[in-house]
Amino acid sequence: MNMLEVDGVGHTYQGKDGAYTAIDGLSFTVGMGELVCVVGPSGCGKSTLLRSIAGLLRPSRGTVSLHGNRVDGVPSDLSVVFQDYSRSLFPWLSVTRNVEFPLRRLSRSERSTRAGEALDAVGLGGAGKKYPWQLSGGMQQRVAIARALAYRPALLLMDEPFASVDAQTRFELEDLLLRVRREQDTTVLLVTHDIDESVYLGDRVLVLSKSPACVVADLDVPLGSSRDQITTRASEQFVELRARVAGMLQGGPVTVR
Ligand code: ADP
Repeated sequence: MNMLEVDGVGHTYQGKDGAYTAIDGLSFTVGMGELVCVVGPSGCGKSTLLRSIAGLLRPSRGTVSLHGNRVDGVPSDLSVVFQDYSRSLFPWLSVTRNVEFPLRRLSRSERSTRAGEALDAVGLGGAGKKYPWQLSGGMQQRVAIARALAYRPALLLMDEPFASVDAQTRFELEDLLLRVRREQDTTVLLVTHDIDESVYLGDRVLVLSKSPACVVADLDVPLGSSRDQITTRASEQFVELRARVAGMLQGGPVTVR
């Protein structure tokens, strides 16, 4: 079953200087339990696409459906992790309270269990009483991921989630994501401008064209479920795929799956 269906989605912004079409005729699906990466050049319309899926923007054309239900407003079973963790956590709430925040409708004990499990999953089991400003950037982004996971969303949307941390932390967080989605069977759509990251993380990579963005390729990533920062990135398949994606982003030959 498809968790997400994006069908013919296009959006035209109306501004003082006239109309500007940011995305056009975007169509793709994400199956249950899949991790799909969307990669495209800066300014091609990735955020516009993400906002349309999250129900934060009503696209001018086309439809978005989440497990069969048309998105028309913010779906209740969706979590988003943004790039800027410093603005997505509440500095006056402890780590545990931050993670529990979206779970207000659950009982106190259920909230506490879910937050504890999510913090354990991201390796922050002992940090619940700390405040975000007492943690490193990488740890704060782990809290944001824990909060998203504790909510148990049908779809986890991630917008350049590792772009604001240093390279070593980025690798650790990428591996963390691969592990938790394996353990929890989470469906993930991750937007990035980093070609290597899209190939390393994705079961599939959707390559977008320049604005107005459309899907120029939908590539399977046959690297298996067990990936390693050193050996996977050095493998022939990885190198070949990243070169293909890079070629497409530079306007080279397009191969559609
Ligand atoms: P990306 O996330 O890939 O960098 P965006 O979706 O943010 O791309 O933007 C795509 C294009 O749409 C850009 O040229 C941007 O200037 C334009 N755009 C984004 N938001 C608006 C808006 N609210 N009004 C007018 N143009 C916009």
